[in-house]
Amino acid sequence: MSDQLVIDTLHFVRNSGLLQGSIPLVNLERLCSYLVSTSGELTYLVAGQFDEYNRPILKLSINGSVDLNCQRCLEKMGYSLNLETELLLARNEDELSRYDEDIFVDAIQASNELDVLTLIEDEIILSLPISPRHQDVKCHLSIVTEAHMAATREHPFTVLASLKRTH
Ligand SMILES: [Zn+2]
Repeated sequence: MSDQLVIDTLHFVRNSGLLQGSIPLVNLERLCSYLVSTSGELTYLVAGQFDEYNRPILKLSINGSVDLNCQRCLEKMGYSLNLETELLLARNEDELSRYDEDIFVDAIQASNELDVLTLIEDEIILSLPISPRHQDVKCHLSIVTEAHMAATREHPFTVLASLKRTH
């Protein structure tokens, strides 16, 4: 990993911190293991804020597109990433386990050296579909299957025709 972006999370929130930039996909090694192609880049924005209950949060916004492997035809499949997440910053482990019980919130433990790029990469990986597939009309396999079905539909008639000829 060439770039590192480390923040003190609570300090970042208190100062209404804002980070934005772009990351070449090749720099996100773990993410790349899910991708067909590693060219291109993603843009990100990380903002430190307090939510309506005055709890410290990190707001993440990640945009770009990646190429996944369609699990049906195994061909390349473009996938847009438009991620918007809010992560509550737990001040300690007790608070974190309390937040974790709430299915409506995502939380991480506050840290004085949080690696932002690792966090971004984790969020992207979590957001990827478990079994990515093209929509039917775009899937290479459904085109192949249709051609195959057309071929087999003709087949009985060919068989019938050849039977007829023998009689
Ligand atoms: Zn497909």
